[in-house]
Amino acid sequence: MYPTLSLYIDGQFLSGQGRREQDVFNPATGQVIARLPHASSDDLNAALAAAERAFQSWKKSSPMARSKVLRKVADLARERAADIGRAMTQDQGKPLAESIGEVMACADHADWHAEECRRIYGRVIPARQEGVRQLVLREPVGVCAAFTPWNFPFNQAIRKISAAIGAGCTMVLKGPEDAPSAVVALAQLFHDAGLPAGVLNIVWGVPAEVSEHLIASPVVRKISFTGSVAVGKQLAAKAALLMKRSTMELGGHAPVIVCDDADIDAAVAMLVPFKFRNAGQVCISPTRFYVQEGAYERFVAGFVAGARAVKVGDGLAADTKMGPLAQARRVGAVASFIDDAQSRGATLLAGGAPIPGVGNFFAPTVLADLSEDSRLMTEEPFGPVAGIVRFKSLDEALRRANSLPFGLASYAFTGSSRNAQAISSGLEAGMVSINHIGLALSETPFGGIKDSGIGSEGGLETFDGYLNTKFVTQLN
Ligand code: NAD
Repeated sequence: MYPTLSLYIDGQFLSGQGRREQDVFNPATGQVIARLPHASSDDLNAALAAAERAFQSWKKSSPMARSKVLRKVADLARERAADIGRAMTQDQGKPLAESIGEVMACADHADWHAEECRRIYGRVIPARQEGVRQLVLREPVGVCAAFTPWNFPFNQAIRKISAAIGAGCTMVLKGPEDAPSAVVALAQLFHDAGLPAGVLNIVWGVPAEVSEHLIASPVVRKISFTGSVAVGKQLAAKAALLMKRSTMELGGHAPVIVCDDADIDAAVAMLVPFKFRNAGQVCISPTRFYVQEGAYERFVAGFVAGARAVKVGDGLAADTKMGPLAQARRVGAVASFIDDAQSRGATLLAGGAPIPGVGNFFAPTVLADLSEDSRLMTEEPFGPVAGIVRFKSLDEALRRANSLPFGLASYAFTGSSRNAQAISSGLEAGMVSINHIGLALSETPFGGIKDSGIGSEGGLETFDGYLNTKFVTQLN
């Protein structure tokens, strides 16, 4: 059974009552599975007022009380992971094991924030003058507006909510209308865990209309967005004009550098499932593969064999390793990258087209020997497509990897510590993962540089975007 969808405002789950609604589709079948209520302008104002009211008491709550709520959310998420995961597969498409895995990993995020919110320390600065005490206090910024996407509907939302409420902020969050069940489930988890009314509010609607309304409100002090670079720049610009803080987790185009001296079979074994996880709709998905000449043939042969073996199907089927694309509009978008690459001379080695029949299914695709200016090598494909090219020297690979405006995740495989060091210091990226896939853990910072964003989620940095620094000096 797919759950009933609602808004969550001031501790109340709301739907119907003449609100505008939109269809929610199952991307594997094309069927409408639910109706999602949109927030009216009055609903948005009610959510803002509730968040503002709740902030007055939540900012004074003890970190122990906040920690207790987050711990309870973690426990409940683990208990409910199967149901939440099933609904997520129905509206987002990813295989059930990935959906359940996402919920379980997010329970870790809630636990991590429960622990770390008790350690938001200020400091004492030794004074120049006797009798003066100088303190640095960290205070919650206030009401936050958050916008989260459809590719990891549970993960992207819980990271923002846990950081905000752990820091003592309150939040109005607009989740992904395409895949809404996970965010409604999250509201229920926080509600059941005893979060006071108004601290978290969930709204839905036309994204640009909702963000316009929320960002413009004087109540909102901070914006947090995960999504495309283009939208992120628009929202960051609006926030900047009003001098509001923002955290932006935007798109990437992750390079993978595979050196001659790497364990090629091990690299292929890790990279194939990682490339096609969530049908490649992942901001840290490996997308541009730079492989050194001596390893090229072996790497390509292994990768193509792996891609051809990926079982594509409905995410609810037990043997499915890759589900459909999350929306029908993505099918044409992904196909256009392949057409463009082929028109510029690339060789198609696997897949290359949508899979005929119902649902947004796309074959796992591998292209080789692409020209440097093909769209696949310059724009984020956000789909199950890998482009593989060769390089001669490491300097050349680093120059090509750094040539784009993106700087989110990056990967490298090498047997030499000298290469590893040159790569980790040479790559322009917020995250570098060498000889394994080790990103997006709750205890490690996640974030990009250049066009890929501002700020980090996770790790000790997780609360930075939600805290003001106040300096107090006092003469006794
Ligand atoms: P899109 O740019 O239209 O939307 C991306 C996300 O932003 C969606 O969740 C959408 O609801 C939201 N959004 C769009 N306009 C908004 C606005 N004015 N205010 C607030 N939110 C808004 O693209 P799409 O077709 O949904 O997704 C495809 C592209 O989005 C991909 O190419 C990828 O680059 C990017 N994307 C990135 C991530 C990520 O994790 N960084 C997640 C999802 C999508």
